[in-house]
Amino acid sequence: KPIDQYTQTEAAAAAQELRQTLAEYSEAYYTKDAPVVEDHVYDELYRDLETLEAAFPIIVTNDSPTQKVGDQVLPGFKKVTHEVPMLSMGDVFSEEELATFDNRLQKNVEHVIEYNVELKIDGLAIDLIYEKGQFVRGATRGNGTIGEDITQNLKTIKAIPQTLTKPVSIEVRGECYMPKASFAALNEKREAEGQPPFANPRNAAAGSLRQLDAKIAAERNLSAFMYTIVTFDDVQATTQHEALEVLAELGFNVNPTAEVCHNMTEVKTFIERYQATRDDLEYGIDGVVLKVNDLALQRQLGNTVKVPRWEIAYKFPPEEAATIVRDIEWTI
Ligand code: NAD
Repeated sequence: KPIDQYTQTEAAAAAQELRQTLAEYSEAYYTKDAPVVEDHVYDELYRDLETLEAAFPIIVTNDSPTQKVGDQVLPGFKKVTHEVPMLSMGDVFSEEELATFDNRLQKNVEHVIEYNVELKIDGLAIDLIYEKGQFVRGATRGNGTIGEDITQNLKTIKAIPQTLTKPVSIEVRGECYMPKASFAALNEKREAEGQPPFANPRNAAAGSLRQLDAKIAAERNLSAFMYTIVTFDDVQATTQHEALEVLAELGFNVNPTAEVCHNMTEVKTFIERYQATRDDLEYGIDGVVLKVNDLALQRQLGNTVKVPRWEIAYKFPPEEAATIVRDIEWTI
């Protein structure tokens, strides 16, 4: 029934039921790397929960998935603490929601905000630490504060340099992913061996990196794109786009498609281009990410408990239903 007809008690009960269902789905997705429902099913229930909690803020609980980063840390791995938390990301599913995001940020700023627009790679976030140019530690996001030490597995990935081009000490973040071809070959092999196939490249990549035996990760042909500089002690950048250039100069694999967009019409063109050509890419994407390009403005905008305020994911519609469900008409 419509939300304005809920009493607080009803809303609290409905929210609790949604949290339980979402927790079951998350357990399968994050802990077992084997989702039991498709992402859009999860996303819709998550949205319902957000709507209920927004209408009745008093019913929000600390353990609600809206209040925390989802991944669970597997036993068996050494744990690491992220001094700068690894957050989740807000998402929007329509042009109107994207315009709302932009308008909200724009209200606090006198000039027109520039966005660095990047592809949203369908993999899992990784954090890499280099000391004097040498790779010393790699970790998963985990619950945002505590992640898993997967250094040995990450050392098997060619796209992750062991030594940088300069002897800098730096912490960087990005996405580890399984290219589509590796994913298809892996699932074929698994089926031939009577093992269950992975649901999608993201789960396959996560399942491969969270193996205690590094030989398995080595066989899986994983790759990585880096897109965030966490520490600026030894390097300099004033925009996200410059940060990507610095990462590339240091020897990291950086996705070449990122573009600075000066207005929402340019953002729209970028989205439409990659929504139409995503099948031609060698890796999966599930949307695009808009990041405020100015790093000082990013810092000024800050984060909520769960997501940065200066970035948003525009999620593509689920692939099978893409043309039927959402034939977007842009009105920006
Ligand atoms: P998310 O995966 O939607 O977005 C945040 C992540 O995007 C970052 O952590 C980073 O890893 C990644 N990313 C990719 N490209 C990036 C780029 N260029 N710049 C910055 N980040 C980039 O958010 P989340 O909190 O990790 O997970 C929520 C997602 O997990 C939802 O899409 C949801 O559908 C899915 N999920 C599905 C199930 C299920 O049962 N199917 C269960 C739980 C969660």
